[in-house]
Amino acid sequence: MLFGLISQSTALSRKLFSGDKNIPFSVFKPTGFARFALLEKKNSGLELNASEKEEFARFVARIEKICQTGHDLGVPIFVDAEETWIQDVIDDVVRDMMKKYNKERVVVHNTIQMYRTDRLAFLKESVAHARQNNYMLGMKIVRGAYMEKERERAAKMNYADPIQPDKAATDRDYNASMKVCIDNIEMMSVCCGSHNEQSSQLLVHLMKEKNLANNHPHIWFSQLYGMSDHISYNLAKQGYNVCKYVPYGPLTGVLPYLIRRAQENTSVAGQTGRELSLIITEKRRRKTEGR
Ligand SMILES: Cc1cc2nc3c(=O)[nH]c(=O)nc-3n(C[C@H](O)[C@H](O)[C@H](O)COP(=O)(O)OP(=O)(O)OC[C@H]3O[C@@H](n4cnc5c(N)ncnc54)[C@H](O)[C@@H]3O)c2cc1C
Repeated sequence: MLFGLISQSTALSRKLFSGDKNIPFSVFKPTGFARFALLEKKNSGLELNASEKEEFARFVARIEKICQTGHDLGVPIFVDAEETWIQDVIDDVVRDMMKKYNKERVVVHNTIQMYRTDRLAFLKESVAHARQNNYMLGMKIVRGAYMEKERERAAKMNYADPIQPDKAATDRDYNASMKVCIDNIEMMSVCCGSHNEQSSQLLVHLMKEKNLANNHPHIWFSQLYGMSDHISYNLAKQGYNVCKYVPYGPLTGVLPYLIRRAQENTSVAGQTGRELSLIITEKRRRKTEGR
């Protein structure tokens, strides 16, 4: 199954893929709808001037239009997570949308990056907030794509590094987040956005422990298009809900995204190696055993 990463409001004209069962979600990056510098200023707590306030209101109105359209057409929405220095603003807007549109079912999903030291607490607080305010929570859980940039900025500007001290700490919090989601699955929808085999296996294991159906409507697995097909295909074959994340948009908007994927080969320990060794083994098997 495929779903899109929307980087431009033109996606709305495509009616958020309504009615196409092979495209179960629509996705967007908030910086596709607002200037980065505007979100940064708002996030920093500085007062916006009159025209910036109008600009910010237009940003919120665009997000609202997408969430409302998703709600009306029955197409769930994922909002990507970005850099920490614009993320609080995004979290606030997305929370407001969840309060409004996630009353009877989960339409709006935020994204949590578990490479951040504060995100497990944020996830738990989000569960409590949703329960207290009678709405359902939607969360895509990822490890996080901006590690080097985050560390560099923190060092340059002399504030505490928001990123976990090492990969093991990120993995520990990622696994813990899966358990929090499954423990609250009756009031939330979760997407495990990862190429990590252990994380996917852990989620499968947690589902089995609770006797949840493989195709439980609140539980999704997702990998990027062109990556980790061995995870996607094997899960899909077993009846789990799986979708591939397909980026599209104007070349200038999508290029940084694709470059990040290439850069991840340095930060995603073993990702490329893991996939390559699986392909080599399978090629060898086909040569010796035939198809
Ligand atoms: C469907 C999908 C949606 C995504 N959406 C987003 C999104 O909205 N926002 C976003 O930021 N990213 C997003 N990503 C990218 C994601 O955050 C990861 O960068 C990527 O998936 C690699 O992590 P992994 O769990 O797949 O693999 P793994 O190989 O297990 O983990 C690699 C990740 O671990 C972390 N890590 C590596 N080394 C260290 C270290 N020394 N210390 C601390 N942490 C470390 C980093 O986050 C690194 O990317 C998405 C990925 C997928 C599959």
